[in-house]
Amino acid sequence: MESNTDTSKQPCQPLDEETLFIVSQTFKALSDSTRIRILHLLAQREYSVNEIAEQLGLLQSTVSHQLRFLKNLRLVKFRRAGQTLFYSHDDKHVMDLLEQAIIHACHD
Ligand SMILES: [Zn+2]
Repeated sequence: MESNTDTSKQPCQPLDEETLFIVSQTFKALSDSTRIRILHLLAQREYSVNEIAEQLGLLQSTVSHQLRFLKNLRLVKFRRAGQTLFYSHDDKHVMDLLEQAIIHACHD
């Protein structure tokens, strides 16, 4: 154990309460089909709330609600351009997790 000085492969060991909480929140974020669709869309480029609602056929209020949830977990970020907020993804690890889950869902 002590000989392994490369901690990059096993960050957050041992799993403390805070880590467990964040991991469970991460999977919670990915456990909702609307949030999955929003994150999947944001994998391509940034989108305004309006555009997301249009693309996914959702109410703007629904999109805003889910974006707030994702923003609280720092999985998305936004920039303001005049009156418009443009959202983009803010965490490559979680986008990779999502991609892996999609691949998992589609393979034989
Ligand atoms: Zn699989």
